[in-house]
Order: sequence, then C-alpha cells, then structure tokens
Amino acid sequence: MSDCLFCKIIAGEIQSKKIYEDNEMLAFYDINPMAPVHFLVIPKKHINNLLELKEEDASLIGRLFHKAQELAKKEGCEEKGGRFVINAKKDGGQTVDHLHIHFLGGRTLGWPPG
Ligand code: AMP
Ligand code: ZN
Repeated sequence: MSDCLFCKIIAGEIQSKKIYEDNEMLAFYDINPMAPVHFLVIPKKHINNLLELKEEDASLIGRLFHKAQELAKKEGCEEKGGRFVINAKKDGGQTVDHLHIHFLGGRTLGWPPG
C-alpha cells in the first residue's frame, strides 16, 4: 500500500531502528516508546488489522508472535515478562492501519488499559 507508513518502512523509504528482518516480517523499535522496551513486529504483507485477518494468514500471525517472544527474551524480558498487544481499529486505539504486534516490557504495566 503506497500510502501506508509501515509499508514505507518495509520498503526502506522511512528509516526505522530495525531489530530483525526476514522475507515475511520486520521488527523495529517504536518511535514513541511507552516502556523501556517497546518494539513492533509487522508482517511485510499489508493487512489492515486483525479483524481483517484471513484464515490463510493465521499461521503468519503465529510466526510473528513467536518472533516477538524470541526478541522479548533477547531484550532481557524473559524473567519479568511484559505485554504482547495488537490494537485493532478505533476502539482499540490503532493509529497505523498495518497489522502490528507491540511488545512492551521493562516496567510493570497497569491493567486494565485506560
Ligand atoms: P497503534 O497505535 O497500535 O496503531 O501503534 C502504532 C505505533 O507505531 C505507535 O506506538 C507509534 O508510536 C508507532 N510509530 C509510528 N510511526 C513510527 C515510526 N516511523 N517508527 C516506529 N514506530 C512508529
Ligand atoms: Zn502497509
């Protein structure tokens, strides 16, 4: 999608602090971190949000979460954990319409979200 911010990051048109990349996903630090560790894992395939996920992409999401937990451990969050989040659409607080997993760690997070 030509007007999608995260597609532009994937294409290298916008810089990001990359943590991991392969043929189907990219992980990078959030530009506005909400915790000491805050990164995003995104599919290279443009999917608007989790509500539009097709069954054929279900295993892709599994691999994104698996990579997210691997990276969370590498970032030192194995012992204390953190939060793996997908915001969807307006009520979920989604601001970038390209499916992404947030990982937040390094501090104790409140629940429920405000
Ligand atoms: P969401 O609100 O769930 O859609 O999350 C979008 C996230 O993308 C927010 O946490 C933003 O801080 C983050 N973000 C926006 N632009 C960039 C960027 N250029 N590089 C890294 N993260 C970004
Ligand atoms: Zn996109």
